[in-house]
Amino acid sequence: MNLLYPPRCPICDEVLDIRWKRCCPSCAKALPWVGENACMKCGKPVGDEGQEYCEDCQKQAHYYDRGVAAFTYTGALRHSVYRMKSSNRREYVPFFAESMSRVLVQYLPRWRPEAILPVPMYPRKRRSRGYNQSELLAEEIGRLTGIPVENALLYCTRMVRPQKTLSRQERMKNLRGCFAVRGGFAPFRCVLLVDDVYTTGSTMDELGRVLRKSGVQFIFFVVLCTGKGKKAVCTAKKV
Ligand SMILES: [Zn+2]
Ligand SMILES: [Zn+2]
Repeated sequence: MNLLYPPRCPICDEVLDIRWKRCCPSCAKALPWVGENACMKCGKPVGDEGQEYCEDCQKQAHYYDRGVAAFTYTGALRHSVYRMKSSNRREYVPFFAESMSRVLVQYLPRWRPEAILPVPMYPRKRRSRGYNQSELLAEEIGRLTGIPVENALLYCTRMVRPQKTLSRQERMKNLRGCFAVRGGFAPFRCVLLVDDVYTTGSTMDELGRVLRKSGVQFIFFVVLCTGKGKKAVCTAKKV
């Protein structure tokens, strides 16, 4: 199997030398970690040291408590995430989940989530893709942290129209009512949502809204990558 499907670097997609674990050294050096200067609400990078909240979070409240991201959604990583989602590169998941866990472990002693909830995908979409990448990331993070993963609690009630070109307000409207908690009740006080990309936060907010209505008090999230803030999201700029 390894000859037919040799392990590849998740960032540049070149075949990996067996000496390297999950990512080739030159890509590892250039990984766009968000780092310390991150928004204390949504986890986006903030310019200044000492700036607590990004511009988005200064302007609007969120339905979740706090979230963190491993990387910024730029350059080679954008292409890599696209391959993971749309070109069946499921083998990237362990590397990505490890990266997310590295950031997450600093917060776990304070957050203490009782369950990990992957952002759900509409069943028809999941069938055609063969998997939900957020679920794969969640399972791996669950394995690494020992927190139970609840795959079936959240579900999609309908297909969501593509969000790419929509503003935050339009996204919120588009998403309204598209997620639900099975049975209408979530038996947790504190949960951790897992997703691949955070852009305007509308998905996390809608899930937060639904979870709060279902009895959850604290909602945290971890994402693989996050937009840099309004201007940098959805540009094709290379790092
Ligand atoms: Zn590489
Ligand atoms: Zn923020």
